[in-house]
Amino acid sequence: MIRVFDEKDFSWDDVPRLIYKEDKQLFQGVTRQVLFDGEGDIPCQFRYFEVEAGGYSTLEHHEHFHFVMIGRGKGQVLLGTTVHEVKQGDTMVIPSFMFHQFRANRGEALGFFCLVNKNRDKVAVPTKEELEELRRHEAVRQFLDGE
Ligand code: MN
Repeated sequence: MIRVFDEKDFSWDDVPRLIYKEDKQLFQGVTRQVLFDGEGDIPCQFRYFEVEAGGYSTLEHHEHFHFVMIGRGKGQVLLGTTVHEVKQGDTMVIPSFMFHQFRANRGEALGFFCLVNKNRDKVAVPTKEELEELRRHEAVRQFLDGE
């Protein structure tokens, strides 16, 4: 089955764009499109997330891995205690229990494709203590505070 891509707004035929209820405590301006939902012998989901300019995904960690490829725009990604500049085409593997967050903080939307196992554990946000530990790193603190 072919789903035709529309490059004007990064959408695909018959794929709904799911808009999360805004919760600025956790994330802002994030949509999700599920492009593949585990068919045949591939027990994975392949999703496209888009963070609008100025928005950010949830700061989280979990046991399951992600494979991510930036599909559109540029921004920054926090992986563990390191902040990375990312742009279209960059890829990354996010291993078990590494905190991660995507921020569209370079003046444009940041879109990324994300591969996950269909059977996966729930995400966890940092505890107060974990957040304090992360914020001890100056680059992480600046990233989180939008500086
Ligand atoms: Mn995650």
